[in-house]
Formats: sequence, C-alpha cells, structure tokens
Amino acid sequence: MGELIKEKRISSLPSGTLILRIRSMAKEERLFLKVWVDNAKKRVVFAETSSDFVDVLFSFLTLPLGTIIKLLSDNSGLGCIDNLYDSIKQLSDEHFSTKACKNMLLSPCSAAAEYCEKLKLNVYGPRVFYCCKMDDCISRTRCYYSSVWQTRCYYCGEFMNEIVPWRNDETTDGVFVKKNDTKFMITDDFRVTQSSVSAFYDRLKELDVKDINLLEEWILEFGREELLNLLKESLRTKEALTNIFFPDLCIRCTSPQCKNWMEIIMNKSKGNAELEIQEMLIIPIVNRTSNKVMCAVVGKEFVDQLLSFLTFPLGSVLKLIGYSDSFGCMNNLYDSIHELKIKYFKSEEAKSMLISPKLAPFFGYRKQMLYMEESSPLVPSSLYGCQKCYWDNNNSPCITVSCKHGVQQSHFIEIDPMLDKADTYIDEGFVRSDQNFLVTDDLHVTPISLPYFIQILKRQGLHADQLEYGEIVIERPHVYNLLKTMLTSETTLSDALSFRQVE
Ligand SMILES: [Zn+2]
Repeated sequence: MGELIKEKRISSLPSGTLILRIRSMAKEERLFLKVWVDNAKKRVVFAETSSDFVDVLFSFLTLPLGTIIKLLSDNSGLGCIDNLYDSIKQLSDEHFSTKACKNMLLSPCSAAAEYCEKLKLNVYGPRVFYCCKMDDCISRTRCYYSSVWQTRCYYCGEFMNEIVPWRNDETTDGVFVKKNDTKFMITDDFRVTQSSVSAFYDRLKELDVKDINLLEEWILEFGREELLNLLKESLRTKEALTNIFFPDLCIRCTSPQCKNWMEIIMNKSKGNAELEIQEMLIIPIVNRTSNKVMCAVVGKEFVDQLLSFLTFPLGSVLKLIGYSDSFGCMNNLYDSIHELKIKYFKSEEAKSMLISPKLAPFFGYRKQMLYMEESSPLVPSSLYGCQKCYWDNNNSPCITVSCKHGVQQSHFIEIDPMLDKADTYIDEGFVRSDQNFLVTDDLHVTPISLPYFIQILKRQGLHADQLEYGEIVIERPHVYNLLKTMLTSETTLSDALSFRQVE
C-alpha cells in the first residue's frame, strides 16, 4: 500500500493548507479530501468533500465480498473469509460444476458495475465481457457473450476467452449522488451528512474539541492504491481516516465474538417463515479438550452455501445481518445512505442500489438458504448485421440490407456461466455433486483426504481419544450465523454452529 509523504502545497490551494500526498507513480485520476486534524489528540476530526468522493465511498457497498478480497490481495483481515477465498484458488477445476463457476467466485461481478464504471476513480477496472473467437459463432443472428471468463460458447462449446471492453457512456452528473455544489461531511467512522454549521458544531462537541485554532486543515490525495487502503481500514476499524492520516497509530481492531447468537437467529428467523427451509447434514469433529470444532465433513450443498457468500454484495450482507460492531465504518456508511434525503441522490434507483444491492445476473445459487435477490440480465441488444461485422467496422452498424454473413439483424445475449454446453446444466450450484469436503474451523475447504486430516491432527497436537464426532442438521439460522461469524471470527464453525448440539 502507498507510503505517506507529507508535502507543503505550493499554490492553487488556500494558504495555510497543507497537502498530505500518498504518492504513487502511475498517472490516474486523483480524488481529494479536505480533512481537519487534531494533532494533539492524533485524530481526524472530520472531512469535507464533494459528490465524487462520496460516490466512491458509497460504491464500496455494491462490491461482492469475493471482489473485496480480490482487491485487497486476499488480505481483508475479516474473520475467515480470506481462507475461504484461498480455498477456491487451491481447489482444482474438476471440483467445480464448470470452469466459469470457479471464476465466478474468484472474481464475482457486481450488479452495479455499469454504475461504478462512471466513478471518477474506479478501483474495479474497466468492465469487459467475453465472447467466442470463432467467426462462425459471432456472425449469426443470435450471438452470445458472458461476463465471466471461461464460460462455454453456446455454439462450439469452447471457452469464450475473447475480451471485449464495454462501451462506457460518459456521465457528468454523478453516479449515485447528484453532482452539484453540495458538500458532504464525513466523520472518521464514515458517517456521511450534508455539510452544515450544525453538523460541524455537533462533531466538535462530540469529540470535545474546544479550541478550533488547534485544528489543522489538510488535503488528502487519493489514487487507486490509497483508496484500497481506505477500504481495508474502513472494514476493520472505526478510525479509517485517522489510520490513513497517522498510519503509525494503526491499531488492529479486535473482532468481538458473536454473542447470544441463538437469540439473534431466532429474531432474524421470525418473519421469514414463508421461506422454504431446506436441511443438510454435516459431521463436525470436535476437540473435547478445547470444545472447538476441529473440522467438519460436509457435502456439496454445504460448500455451495459457503462459497456463494462470496458473491453477496457488502451492502446486502449488512442489511441481512443487521448492526454489528465488527464491520469498522461500514455500518455507519450504510446507515448514512438510509438517512440522507432522496434529493441528494440521482434517483430512487441509485439509492436502492446501495441499500439493497443485488447479485449480478446468473450469480444466484438457487438453493442458497439466505435469500439474495439477483438482478435481471441485460435486455439483449439488437443491431443490423452481425456482431462480427459490427466490431470489424469499429462498432458502426451495417448500412446495407444484410451484412456479408447474410445477417439482417442480430441479437446479443448474455449466457449463463453455469451452463456447460448449449442448454445443459452439468450441475446445480458452484461445485459438482457427489463430493465430500473437509472444512476446518477457520474455513479452509479441501476435498476429503485422510493424509490432510492426519496433518490437521498433528498440527494441533491432538490425540484420537480427544476427538468425538456427531451430526448437525444445518438449517437456515446456521447459515445465517455462518455468514455473520465468517466475517468476524477466526473459529467460524465453532462459533456459528454451536457444536454443543453434538453432545
Ligand atoms: Zn464458439
């Protein structure tokens, strides 16, 4: 992550303003954040910025969990989710329903990607799609593409690996928030409000700042790398801006253990009785001495439940699990969107895209016990002539009656990455059926292997007589609790499943 360098700003900013630049070499869009710092107490009191920066902060909520792990180089520091993500990398292709299924989990698409592409600083990179490279497959009246790498071509069955960038419509009036002169105030823990004297006064009072002469005004400059650093800090501490500003102070926030989980689950389960409750059985192997689950033998259905969490957008996870101390600044950010009046947003749609972000098209796992809405695929676009001629002509449509491939009009249709060949599903879900897996307490998922099991035993210095095993029927409350503890605890199975049921 970028190294902090303090510099005096020479001109163009009001005198007395210092600039703290987090230097990176690449030329890219930069975002600026004005912050007021209490140097004596070593903290950022508040920040003020325009809609561009707020748009970027809000966009964090649209990111699927798997995308967050990928952006943070498998090091989000959240519970066990990094281990789960790493397990997918380690599992060979043969365990997945299709090759594309593995890619779906390692690089989940966001349903808000089209919006986020218009951000002033987009950490997610340009949006692309994949299509077949065979001329015969893309010069027909129906032409297929996928948002996921290595989806099978509908016609020839080969992987669609030809990368095509989406055409990006330039926007000038903001992404989620209206672009105008409105300034927003952001607190250290990501409460976002419209800038006002009363908000300023309340903040000073809250932090007991009496002498405003002691506040220093600084400008923070953000590129992609610095923004990712901010994302990381904001997920695990409530002092994201302070930690960016005073990196030496950076204190790792301890994840509180999940308390009263039975109560939480019961409350959550009410009102969802209409949802069909499915069941699955797992075999936890418990260390009797420590009262912890060492690992569990699980089937495909359980693994699919776990893996599909990676496709969940952060905002929807926060909505689902409710308030938790463990998500750094993210709950405040989420609440701010609720509380900000609709007049600040571009549209109702933009606001709801942040409050209830949906899964990208085709990313839903049909048997997922926690309901997560999937967005509809784009309406197939149509043009005169075939796609091949369209691309060959630099994206200009055919002007003759039909193109040289004899196509008058063609349709461009997104294909389901879970389809193996043409219209056949090889399986349902991300991993193939008829497999059993071993899941450790900290969510390393591997195929069942006796040597690996012995290795875990040895690593933990356990004797066989210290272990016992039983069965747990996994129901929706367990799945709910798995999602929650996976993000906060390093002993997810023990904390989420209440293994005492084994006794
Ligand atoms: Zn093809």
